[in-house]
Amino acid sequence: MEDCIFCKIINKQIPSEIVYEDEEILAFKDIAPMAPVHILVVPKKHIASVMELSKEDELLVGKIYTVIQKLAKEFNVSEEGFRVITNCGEGAGQTVKHIHFHLLGGKKLSISMC
Ligand code: 5GP
Ligand code: ZN
Repeated sequence: MEDCIFCKIINKQIPSEIVYEDEEILAFKDIAPMAPVHILVVPKKHIASVMELSKEDELLVGKIYTVIQKLAKEFNVSEEGFRVITNCGEGAGQTVKHIHFHLLGGKKLSISMC
């Protein structure tokens, strides 16, 4: 996707602070962190949102959670707790139309979810 900012990050056309990479998944630090640990985990395949996922992506989403688990341990938030958020659609505040999973932690997170 030519004008997708996360595809540009994946293709290394835009710099980012990468914390994990494999053939299918990239994780990098959010440019405007909302918590001491704020990492974005994205599939390399361009999928616009949760609503664009298909049956063939089921394994990929599972792999993303395995990466999230690994990063939670690596960034020392697995014991105190962390939050994973995927905004879907404008009403939920999705600003980048490439599915992504926010990994947030490193501080006491608000109990309120919305
Ligand atoms: P959304 O609002 O779509 O759920 O989350 C998009 C996230 O992407 C935001 O937290 C925003 O700070 C982050 N973001 C937007 N542009 C860039 C960028 O160029 N680099 C990085 N590292 N993060 C970005
Ligand atoms: Zn994209």
